[in-house]
Formats: sequence, structure tokens, C-alpha cells
Amino acid sequence: MTHTAEILCVGTELLLGEILNTNAQFLCQQLSALGVNVYYQTVVGDNPGRLARAVELARARADVIITTGGLGPTCDDLTKQTLARCFGKKLVRDAQSERRIRDYFASRLHSGGMPENNLQQAMLPEDCVILQNDWGTAPGCIFQAQGCHVIMLPGPPRECCPMFLERVAPYLRALSGQTILSRSLRVFGMGESAVEERLRRRMNAMENPTLAPYAKTGEVELRLTARAESPAAARALIAPAEEELRALLGDLIYGADVDSIEQVAVALLQDRGLTLGCAESCTGGLIAKRVTDLPGVSSVFKGGLVTYCDQAKESLLAVPRALLDRHGAVSREVALAMAQGARTALGCDLAVATTGVAGPDSDDRGNPVGLVYVALAWDGGSFCRQTQLGLGRDRVRVCAAHHAFDLLRRHLQGLPLELRPT
Ligand code: ATP
Repeated sequence: MTHTAEILCVGTELLLGEILNTNAQFLCQQLSALGVNVYYQTVVGDNPGRLARAVELARARADVIITTGGLGPTCDDLTKQTLARCFGKKLVRDAQSERRIRDYFASRLHSGGMPENNLQQAMLPEDCVILQNDWGTAPGCIFQAQGCHVIMLPGPPRECCPMFLERVAPYLRALSGQTILSRSLRVFGMGESAVEERLRRRMNAMENPTLAPYAKTGEVELRLTARAESPAAARALIAPAEEELRALLGDLIYGADVDSIEQVAVALLQDRGLTLGCAESCTGGLIAKRVTDLPGVSSVFKGGLVTYCDQAKESLLAVPRALLDRHGAVSREVALAMAQGARTALGCDLAVATTGVAGPDSDDRGNPVGLVYVALAWDGGSFCRQTQLGLGRDRVRVCAAHHAFDLLRRHLQGLPLELRPT
């Protein structure tokens, strides 16, 4: 059976913009992975009247209500009282929770002892399942009433998130009695609308698994989600759908269930025992940063040179002055010379280079914002891709780095380096 959840985050500090509602983001991601629909999420201040109205709305349109926050000991922590009242439940003291709270304070050697109001946290709705809080003091709880599953979690993310994963997710999984499995295919080299256009007919026809495209900066994620009675049955539903997507998008799919394109490129380098270096102008070190964000890259990554001005390109990468004068720094010729220069300077097997106009203004030769040349040099050859990455300094840089990793993975997989529509 499919369930619909509504998330109610309680806390005036959320409405004042003092903190970001990361609990809602986390819960939505987790619920989606569990195959639970979320159609609404609400933020309510520490006000019992408004919280009660939000609960009324939620129970009319969802069969799972998840609250976060307001379980603490202070007088504005009113979530349990309000939810219990809305569903006609009494609060009763739970002896085990009380013992845990007393032990918690005793073990921390609080000089003034335990403030009595902390025992409020041991008051829980009658007949509820208590969610033990191993990450703080306030226990959470689950009860069932009036056709609704009501789940209450503490506000601090360091408590809310593990409690959801360890206590609530198994409960929801058991509710549906089904396995939900997702597989994410990552696409680089085609925009979201073009991908959607190509897949639209298939996408509309797909029910199990479902297919959802997500636009990310410079790339697209396609998520196949299957629902079945076992993980093996879910995998069996996903496999032919994945094959079909691969037939439609070909080598634009750079990975499945991977974190990033740099992860794929670096894994290929590791497999082949090859080393990498980079020379960066407009990306300003972003390629080196993204490579070194990956653990264990010291065996493949030699280093990076950020050569922003012409003089640095000339002195550190031996880009000929005549080339810079004739073609300008933002040119195919200079990008190739940078990549070759980095190979020599760093003594690596492969080197990538970027030079372009990140904006906001075009350069002194009139090159438009977003024009970036991305080059790759290897033993015995080199290649440069000219790209137009649009506007937005950050976006241009992120996309330029994506292109560098894409060139690398294509070269290592023996694929054409030019991006062509398949
Ligand atoms: P406590 O026992 O710490 O009082 P609580 O369950 O009563 O826990 P709140 O008092 O509502 O939780 O929130 C405590 C802190 O947790 C907030 O000050 C905030 O830093 C963080 N927090 C609360 N709700 C959220 C949320 N939705 N997203 C991110 N952080 C949150």
C-alpha cells in the first residue's frame, strides 16, 4: 500500500529565518527513497493553536504525519501536548524514559543536577511506541489514531536524522510491506529539456519502475524507482528499463549510482594506473579541489597549477608568448598548450586545462561570457573542446570542470571526445 506523509516542522526560529529547515529536506529525501509520497510540508511556530490547525489540515490529506521539534523541556516545546490533544490521547509518564533522562544527567555531572522540567520529556502519549533517543535526551514516539500514523522526532538534526534512519524508516518499511529500490543514472552532455524530450514517451508510459529526471548544475540525474516484494524483484524490474535508457542516451550516461563525474574519472585513472595533473585559468583551482575532495587520490593526482594571467601561463606552463599574443589566452591553441605544459611541468600521464570567460563581463578581445576551452593532453596526443556554458560565474566554472572530467573519462573509456548528439 502506498502511504502519503506530511511533514510538520515546529519552531519559531525556522519562521524567523534564523535556521534553515534541513530536517524537512532530509525527511523528504528519505521518504521519497522509501516510496512514501510527500505532497505538503509545513513550518509552524511554537504556538499550540496554529500547530493544531496545521495538524487538522495534515490529517485530512495524509495518513502519516511526521513532526520535528518542540519535544524539549522548555515551555515553548508543545508538540507532544498539542498532537496528543488533537488525536484525543492523554500524556502518561514513561518510567523507562524517565530513568534514561535521569541517567543522562547523572553521567554528565551537571553541577546543578537535573532541572525538574526535563522530566516533561518522559511524558508521552498513551499507547505509543517510544523511539529511544540515543543521540540526546528527548525521546520521540509513534502512535496510531484516527487512521493516521503520527511520528514525533526531536528538532536538532543530529538527533532527528539518526532517529529517523534507525527507528522510523524500519517502521515505515514494515507498513508498506514492500521494497523500494532506486537506481540513479547520471547524464552529462545534454540539457534537462533535451533529455526529457528524448525520454518523454517512455517516461509517461512507465509505472513500475517510475522514471524521474532531476536537473543538476550542468548535468541531469535520471532516477528509476521500482516497488516490489523483494530487493531482487525490484532489481529485475529496473534492469530492462536501465537498458532501454542506455540505448536511448548511449555514452552520455557516465555512471550509475555514482556520486560525481570526477569520481568516475578518477576511478578509471586508478584502474589504469595513470596519473593526472591540471592547469586552470577560469576554473581557478576547482578541478584540483574536486579531485582532492575524493579520498585516496594521492596515487593518481600529481598537482594543479592555477595560471590566471598570461605571464603565469608563460612562465609556469611554457605557453609561448607568440601564441598568447596571436590567439589570446582564451583560445583553443592556448588551452592545448596549457594542457601539454602541465604534463611536462607536473610529469603526469594526462593533464586537463581550462581557459575561458567566466564573466560577468566579456574579455578584452570580445570573447563572450561562457566561452570556455577545455583541453586534454596525453602521451602522443591532445584534444580541445570548445564550449559555450551560458551565464553565471559559478555555473560556468562548475560546468567547465565537468567538461574536463568528461574528456578524461571519455579518453580513458575509448569514446569519442567530441560531444555529439547520439
Ligand atoms: P531540544 O531538546 O534541543 O529543545 P526539541 O525537539 O525541542 O529539542 P527544538 O527546541 O524545536 O527541538 O529545536 C532545537 C534546535 O534544533 C533548534 O534551535 C535548531 O537549531 C534545531 N532545529 C530544530 N528544527 C529544525 C529543523 N527543522 N531543521 C534544522 N534544524 C532544526
